[in-house]
Amino acid sequence: MVNDTYYHYSIWWAFVNKVFDADLSVATLKTKGDTGLGSFNLLDGEMVMIDGIAYRVREDGSISEGADSDTIVYANAAFFNEEITIELKNQPTTDIELLKSNLLETIPSKNFFYVFKINGVFNYMKCGGLKKQEPPFDEGLDVLIPNRPIFEGNDVSGTIVGFYCPDFIGNINVKGFHFHFISDDKKLGGHVMDFKSSNILNVGIDKKTDYHFVLPDNTDFENVSLEKEFQYKKN
Ligand SMILES: [Zn+2]
Repeated sequence: MVNDTYYHYSIWWAFVNKVFDADLSVATLKTKGDTGLGSFNLLDGEMVMIDGIAYRVREDGSISEGADSDTIVYANAAFFNEEITIELKNQPTTDIELLKSNLLETIPSKNFFYVFKINGVFNYMKCGGLKKQEPPFDEGLDVLIPNRPIFEGNDVSGTIVGFYCPDFIGNINVKGFHFHFISDDKKLGGHVMDFKSSNILNVGIDKKTDYHFVLPDNTDFENVSLEKEFQYKKN
């Protein structure tokens, strides 16, 4: 039986309001999916999950495998069942905006959830990382994101893991597309900010209709005032 669940841990809005302490273990995350993206506890690294391994991209860009006991502060995950396969070769170069418009043309409706795996050789890849936070937390994600560490590479082969939420998701998750990347050699990764590829990109798409939303069960979340709103303006 196919697991058609889109798993989502922690309200996006809480993350923006400095709830950086987590109680989702990597071991639990693995029971929710083999493909995912998110961030580790205290923003100590961006998370990219592929083939059941949750990789951690630290603020210096180094990549390691998350241990089962490590914790995650925000995650989207799913068991990836490829339902639609397309090849993208654009004129002459695919970038993140072309990828998004191609995906919007391909998906059957904007009203479902989707998971994507996009493999290929990227002529250029620009990823964002996160700086580890220590309590008490000064800044929310709205301030941290514009000041994030940047990792770039040329002619890198790897996989973009993507998630899509319809606009009606509101403030609980990222509206539209959210992409993370990891190179095949596990030397470049993070939140995809931009890329260019003149090569064929193999795109796998998995539609999800079952959304499983889990809140952090801790005192940070208990006490947070969810005042600030924030959505990625771009990428
Ligand atoms: Zn991200």
